[in-house]
Amino acid sequence: MSEHLTPTFTDRGFKIMPSVECQHGGRRQGEVRVQESSAASGPHIWITVTDTHARENATGHLPLAEAVKLRDQLTYLIDNHYQQRKAALEAERITDGVTLACTSCGREVVLPPSLLLMGYVSVKPLTGWEAPPLLCPDCKPKQTP
Ligand SMILES: [Zn+2]
Repeated sequence: MSEHLTPTFTDRGFKIMPSVECQHGGRRQGEVRVQESSAASGPHIWITVTDTHARENATGHLPLAEAVKLRDQLTYLIDNHYQQRKAALEAERITDGVTLACTSCGREVVLPPSLLLMGYVSVKPLTGWEAPPLLCPDCKPKQTP
């Protein structure tokens, strides 16, 4: 099993996962560690953030449902990071903008390259991709003064 998925155990047998390194500006800036909680109220996960510039660690105590949300958010951001998207778009040579259909009326809308990063076009890597609604100028809600 991968080293980052090999837990160690507390004296009472609760799992502690290896710390992951934080970096900022190419430098180590602390670490994040997750471990099983012993809370009797139900399954929880402890998250501890150690910032080398802070005096105290920050902690979070997540019920499993919230931990799942956090896991999903990490997956989403990892797979949809704009720099990843940019590289994927370039790999597929989609860099000049594309023509798509208006979600409402079906009329053609030309997307400029700057909007390609917002997820209107499916390129890998993407998790849970769903095209956001795309409206032509006529279907966009008019701003009321
Ligand atoms: Zn339209």
